[in-house]
Formats: sequence, structure tokens, C-alpha cells
Amino acid sequence: MPSVADCLRQHAPAYLEKFADDVPTGHRKVLGAITRCRTGELGGVLYQCRDCGREHWVGRSCGNRHCPNCQIDKTAEWLEKQTSRLLPVHHFLVTFTVPQELRMPLRGRQSDGYRVAISDKRIEACDASSVTYSYTPSDSKTAITRTVPGERFVGGFAQHILPRGFQKIRYYGWMSPNSKVSLDEVQWLVWLYLGWTYWLASGYAPQPKPVQREPVRCAECGGEMRIVGVINANCRALVEHSVKFLDSG
Ligand SMILES: [Zn+2]
Ligand SMILES: [Zn+2]
Repeated sequence: MPSVADCLRQHAPAYLEKFADDVPTGHRKVLGAITRCRTGELGGVLYQCRDCGREHWVGRSCGNRHCPNCQIDKTAEWLEKQTSRLLPVHHFLVTFTVPQELRMPLRGRQSDGYRVAISDKRIEACDASSVTYSYTPSDSKTAITRTVPGERFVGGFAQHILPRGFQKIRYYGWMSPNSKVSLDEVQWLVWLYLGWTYWLASGYAPQPKPVQREPVRCAECGGEMRIVGVINANCRALVEHSVKFLDSG
């Protein structure tokens, strides 16, 4: 099955050429990052298997928040960060609809949320002229298939590209970066209220579980691999154990 990146590689060049100056710089940057992600154009990473010793060359990831390939890494990082901020209490998710009149004022620039416009698993086919994908209408629970010209697919994807710095989740109260009460203070107050001070002092206090990341595995033997070298897009060697991926905004 083709991926979102495959579809963009196939159709983005014609889209960018046709709409030329009408395409915002930010959109060009994101489309460029995704279409070059893990192709080797952004440089590469040399791994070596700890078990069989074989070396494996992998193109570097773009790290763009709109890239389906890089979403897993970004999602894991976000979950890890949020997990570390949880209080030892029950949490509830509340979903509500905001009246039309209040939507504009409530739009903010603060958050870390990310869903990409479309995931790889929804792509069913891609050829020289069109892209076929599945989607579920908001008023239905049944997925349907749609085929659109390649240009429209790229345009639809680009509509979901967020302006640089714009984020979708907002934090309020002590979760806000501007809060005058620190997270540490709130956590201590909760611990004290719950009477778990002794647990804290004894070292047996329950702690958030770190998010487990699956290591990169050797295609030959399944062994865990380590990074032994990284080069950037200009073929310049970077240090061992360098950045995991680029962050192209
Ligand atoms: Zn191996
Ligand atoms: Zn990527």
C-alpha cells in the first residue's frame, strides 16, 4: 500500500508548480520535509546490530509534526511529557461544543497536540493522476472510499498544515506555562492531602511509568541496534548518538 509520503512525492511537485507563489512558504517547507523523510535526502543514520554485528543504513526522519512517519516518535514524546505531569488522582476527559460566537476568542497558540491530516493506513491507492483513500463522514460510523485527483489530495493535505508555532491544545490553571503556581507545588499539596507523605519519604511512592520505546531492530536477526554514525543532508558526519531526527517545524 502506498503511504501518504508516497502520494505527496507523486503529486506535490505538480501542485507546487501549478500554484507557485500562491503556496505559502510554510506549506512548501512541510511538503518538502515529508517527501524527503527517510529517503536519504536529509542524510542518514548507520546502525549496527548488537547481536550479529551487521550494519544497516536508514534515511533520516524529517521530524515534522505533520509527517505521518514521524508521528509515532512525536506522540511518544508528548505522552511521556504528559505522563510526567499527572497528579496521583483520577482524571476525567470532558468534551463539549463551544458556541460559534466563542470559537474565535478561544483559538490560541498554545499546545502540543498533533494529529496529521491523514494517516498511512487510510491510503488505498495512488497512481499518476489520482489518490484513493478511505474516510468516515462525521455523521456516520461507516468508512467510505473516495478517489480524488492528485492535486486535490495535496491541496487537502496542505489545508491541515498549521502555521509555525500554532498548537491545538490549550492548558489552563496550574498546567498553563504562565501559572504562578508550579507543578511541584501542586503535586506536593495533593500528596499531603492524600496522606502519602510517608510513602514519598520511604521511596515507595507510586511514580508515573516511563513510556517504553521499542528499540530499532535488526532486519537479519531481530537484535537490538545501536547508532554508530549519522550524516546530515550535506554528507557531513555528525557525532555518534546525535539527534534522533531533525525538527523541520
Ligand atoms: Zn542482527
Ligand atoms: Zn518525517
